Amino acid sequence: MDFDLKEEQKMIRDMTRDFARDVIRPRSEEIDRTGHYPYDIMDKMAELGMMGIPFPEDYGGSGGDWVGMHLCIEEISWGDMTLGALLDVTTSIVAQELYAFGTEEQKTTWLVPIVKGKQIGAFGLTEPNAGSDAASIQTRAALEGNEWVLNGTKQFITNIGLDNASIILAAAVTERRAKVKNVISAFIVPKTAPGFRLGKRYDKIGWHGSATHEVIFDDCRIPKENLLGDPKRGFAQHLEVLQTGRISIAAIAVGMAQACLDESVRYARERIQFGQPIFNFQAVQFKLADMAVSIELARNQYLKAAWLKDQGRNHTFEATAAKLYASEMAEKVASDAVQIHGGYGYMSEYLVSRIYKGAKVLQIVEGTSEVQRMIIGRLFQHSLK
Ligand SMILES: Cc1cc2nc3c(=O)[nH]c(=O)nc-3n(C[C@H](O)[C@H](O)[C@H](O)COP(=O)(O)OP(=O)(O)OC[C@H]3O[C@@H](n4cnc5c(N)ncnc54)[C@H](O)[C@@H]3O)c2cc1C
Repeated sequence: MDFDLKEEQKMIRDMTRDFARDVIRPRSEEIDRTGHYPYDIMDKMAELGMMGIPFPEDYGGSGGDWVGMHLCIEEISWGDMTLGALLDVTTSIVAQELYAFGTEEQKTTWLVPIVKGKQIGAFGLTEPNAGSDAASIQTRAALEGNEWVLNGTKQFITNIGLDNASIILAAAVTERRAKVKNVISAFIVPKTAPGFRLGKRYDKIGWHGSATHEVIFDDCRIPKENLLGDPKRGFAQHLEVLQTGRISIAAIAVGMAQACLDESVRYARERIQFGQPIFNFQAVQFKLADMAVSIELARNQYLKAAWLKDQGRNHTFEATAAKLYASEMAEKVASDAVQIHGGYGYMSEYLVSRIYKGAKVLQIVEGTSEVQRMIIGRLFQHSLK
């Protein structure tokens, strides 16, 4: 058993750590306050190859692995959580689905610009009446001549509103069935397609730098060739890449929690009460110790899941456990960090207050904590058979 990172993985981690400290963190307050996406930072991340770490060089990637990708996501999220979410949705989910299931032509047209960071992609599964029960989506797609025609509404879609977003990978029902589940297929829908419309931008309690929009398909026409993968397995394809998304959410959670711990240690050393730094009080040190332990456990878990993925081995339990544990850990750590900062921790200018507001969403996106527990519970059911 070897817990050491490979040289190239260490290089990615260290390069990203420096970048997050020098370039991203100084801008994170402004990003959250204004809600303006930092396109210049995104361009620099692309130049450094961060958008395509696990993909082959032939497709514009860095030829790395998923462990390296997730180390990068953790460090970027330490600097700013919404940029971690960019990597999660664009690289771990959208690019991976194009890479795993796309034709060569689809890869050339859509994957390469995303992997090179020239464009970004969005993922469209959730609808007003289909969240946790994602298989009950109502968006429909029908083949008319050489075109698919989509009708329906997707909600809570991350990043589709950004200027450089090119496509949404949308799930739509292609065959309604009475007694068994509907057939769901996956489609590459360009933002420029006729009938594609961006709905409202949601006003959220945190993650202000990450744009979240409604998407409306109103007789939206796309070429027949934009069907992605097996028409009967669109839902399974989505679920497959969401498994990697879970590892990414865990890495984001670890980055955010580590930022809370670092800020809390620094603050506890500086803040004087009762004539001494509050760091000297055991109650504060115990909180810091618990934070450090839970962060390290979550880090080990997401790295194990990413490593199993790199080996091509089953990692359903490991990825689900990483997402569940790390997202709940991040909320607790952020809450403790605010507590250590006292009243200052509740002020928007303090990083820990922004992370506190942002941490909650990690227990909701890409499957709620309850859904993660359902997935793990089902594994026991299967093992009993
Ligand atoms: C900021 C943000 C960004 C997002 N980005 C995207 C995106 O880019 N693409 C996309 O497709 N979606 C996106 N989502 C949607 C997200 O994945 C869903 O919100 C999530 O899956 C939960 O669905 P829901 O909101 O409909 O909640 P619901 O499914 O209505 O759940 C409500 C509550 O009921 C619980 N519940 C539901 N069913 C069960 C059950 N069987 N047993 C126990 N408890 C249950 C849930 O756990 C939850 O606590 C985003 C959401 C947010 C908030």
